[in-house]
Amino acid sequence: MNTPERSPQRALIIGGSLGGLFTGNLLRRAGWDVDIYERSPHSLDSRGGGIVLQPEVVEVFRRTGVDLQPLELGVQSRSRTVFRPDGSIQSKHVAPQTQTSWSLIYSTMRAAFGEEHYHQGQKLVGLSQTPDHRVTARFADGTQETADLLVGADGSSSTVRHLLWPTEEPSYAGYLAWRGLVPEDEMPAMAREALSGDFSFSSNVQSHILGYLVPGDGNDTRPGHRLYNWVWYRVADNAQLHEIMTDAGGRDRGFSIPEGKLASHWREHLYREADALLPAPLRAVVRATTQPFAQAIRDLAVDHMVDGRIILLGDAASIPRPHTAASTSKAASNALSLLAALQTFPDDPDLALSHWQPEQLALGRYLRDQGSRIGDHLLFQSSRPATAR
Ligand SMILES: Cc1cc2nc3c(=O)[nH]c(=O)nc-3n(C[C@H](O)[C@H](O)[C@H](O)COP(=O)(O)OP(=O)(O)OC[C@H]3O[C@@H](n4cnc5c(N)ncnc54)[C@H](O)[C@@H]3O)c2cc1C
Repeated sequence: MNTPERSPQRALIIGGSLGGLFTGNLLRRAGWDVDIYERSPHSLDSRGGGIVLQPEVVEVFRRTGVDLQPLELGVQSRSRTVFRPDGSIQSKHVAPQTQTSWSLIYSTMRAAFGEEHYHQGQKLVGLSQTPDHRVTARFADGTQETADLLVGADGSSSTVRHLLWPTEEPSYAGYLAWRGLVPEDEMPAMAREALSGDFSFSSNVQSHILGYLVPGDGNDTRPGHRLYNWVWYRVADNAQLHEIMTDAGGRDRGFSIPEGKLASHWREHLYREADALLPAPLRAVVRATTQPFAQAIRDLAVDHMVDGRIILLGDAASIPRPHTAASTSKAASNALSLLAALQTFPDDPDLALSHWQPEQLALGRYLRDQGSRIGDHLLFQSSRPATAR
């Protein structure tokens, strides 16, 4: 006797960034019909901000069928070098690592998912569920869609989380990350010589900076065509944060300010602070950055990721501080384990989700706690700068 074929189940994914694309690609491979809804009307772009390449992301690529052979996944660094503020080297040890860019992961996953079921300019505004396990999403343009599963991959200010668990909100950690990208061939020669090929760090009072090379435009990893990516953590109180996040046109940007939008007096402020606090090579790359951008560091680890057939993952569920280098790999882990649970219980998604949730909650809490420990130590406790002896 033949077993009757099950009709494919349908998933709606809210948010078309990395968490949404990881999940969308994996669920489709498992036989689900998947549609992704992204509020931005344009293709997302960050000009290649840096991300440490973690194995979970490579595993999603592999399971999605991405041909890894011709793909240069990032730029290798050889050593970890710590500079004192006076420019002398405090320590240097060999620690090979691959740094990739947000754009490389995004463009690879976006190409794998294709255009037909990726819907841009669709902002989720409402949700409902019925007792027979159907979820309906309502969008700002008045349309709605119904499916067997809805995935909230809509980031740190998640609408899905806000609709279901309005009290679960990120909290400001008391410092922000200034960031910048400099084309490798525009780096001052002294900085290029001192920094290229390494993962570099330097601490000072309420200040911690790191930098490394990432793929350049078009995911180019050839020497001379890459970008130098730096991230500089600085303590800022709520009032100062609000001023920084008020853009050149006077608009309040909340918790992140993109390239090109920073008010010019803050860029000048950054350059002056670089002169006062950073070792010469890192000072030079900050000063060579024409369009710095910034994001507030926030903490979140929710207590729930599942409500019926609605789930949260990625930054919507928990935000590990960047010191863990884990937010993208955590989104990948959430998606890989979701796939595993749904494949283990193919006829019972509710059972699959109840198995999936506890470990993901624990991972979110673990990374939140680890990131807070590292960040608080770097910014608030180890505030005496190391000096050359
Ligand atoms: C444009 C962009 C550039 C980034 N660049 C970097 C980088 O250079 N380095 C780095 O470490 N991290 C970067 N990140 C963050 C990184 O993607 C996340 O920290 C991590 O990968 C987890 O991703 P996520 O998909 O859960 O969340 P996010 O990447 O924050 O994505 C959430 C998505 O949901 C969409 N969304 C939000 N609300 C709604 C709604 N109501 N309806 C529909 N869609 C909605 C957002 O527009 C966004 O695309 C970037 C994120 C974005 C969106």
